[in-house]
Amino acid sequence: MIYKGLIEKYRKFLPVSDTISVISLHEGNTPIIKARNLPLKIGFNGEIYFKFEGMNPTGSFKDRGMTMAVSKAVEAGSKVIICASTGNTAASAAAYAARAGIKCIVLIPDGKIAFGKLSQALMHRAEVLEINGNFDDALNFAKELSGKYPITLVNSVNPYRIEGQKTAAYEICENLGEAPDYQFLPVGNAGNITAYWKGYKDYNKAEPSKYVLPKMMGFQAAGAAPIVEGYPIAKPETIATAIRIGNPVSWKTAVEARDESNGVIDKVTDEEILEAYRIVAATEGVFCEPASASSIAGLIKYVKRGYFKNNKFGKAVCILTGHGLKDPDNAVSNAVKPKKVKANMKDIIDAVGF
Ligand SMILES: *Cc1c(COP(=O)(O)O)cnc(C)c1O
Repeated sequence: MIYKGLIEKYRKFLPVSDTISVISLHEGNTPIIKARNLPLKIGFNGEIYFKFEGMNPTGSFKDRGMTMAVSKAVEAGSKVIICASTGNTAASAAAYAARAGIKCIVLIPDGKIAFGKLSQALMHRAEVLEINGNFDDALNFAKELSGKYPITLVNSVNPYRIEGQKTAAYEICENLGEAPDYQFLPVGNAGNITAYWKGYKDYNKAEPSKYVLPKMMGFQAAGAAPIVEGYPIAKPETIATAIRIGNPVSWKTAVEARDESNGVIDKVTDEEILEAYRIVAATEGVFCEPASASSIAGLIKYVKRGYFKNNKFGKAVCILTGHGLKDPDNAVSNAVKPKKVKANMKDIIDAVGF
């Protein structure tokens, strides 16, 4: 059967009618890639897998939620959707709105959106408003507008977003033939950790012995770690712009996921995030965006801390939430610069060290 996106595939697990007109770009079905070099490099005596969500149509997992949110909005007769976004939600909402033939309004925090993401929102012809405030401010305006006008809010406060996103957990269970022991992922607005936990519980309910629930290991950036600190952060700061959020919408359900799974929500510094970002690209050939690398930074931190001496190693899945090409500026500024070489063979041979 030809793959036609996650609503078609997982219809029976999703709150959709048989007659809904599905707005899809064939999102989902992303690769789960087993690490070859990372376990040895970081001293993890188990298996590490990357769930490469950057391979979704617009380059992030947001597409999983957006196919649901936009299909539902269209079904309900909505002609306009709105979101606040650090970038990926905007890119995804803009693409699905274009496909649906409806209007998309995007509120972005000024100056803090990765260039690739902005280019997507603009090319898909969203109405992009850059407001001089942070993400949390933008979200408050988006909520207010959607309350006053016939506009559908497609941030992860929209319950259909979570429903679509939970399908990634199904794919992991099917791919591995069981649930992993640990799932590492970045935490921003905390919709995704909520969605995965929901997804794993669905499979666990169906076959508890096969799909034993994983520990949910969520990581915030140190400068934007409200859940870890226990209070909202007024001015969140991190290089990982996709998780630069000070007051997560799904705070409560993220804490529930952590506690019910016996997992953790902890923080990693920008230095640790950048180190993980470079390592996974250089040693595994997988290029994710900085926010995504906080999952790997978290794994590395917990290996160093000796966490797995008390807990078995087993299978760890790191969710790589977005593609590295989204944020070329961060990539180039954190990588080794190209060497300038004269156009002659001798200089070229010298430069490559033969
Ligand atoms: C949205 C996003 C996150 C954060 O997900 P939440 O559901 O807000 O916790 C992490 N990484 C990337 C690349 C994202 O786009």
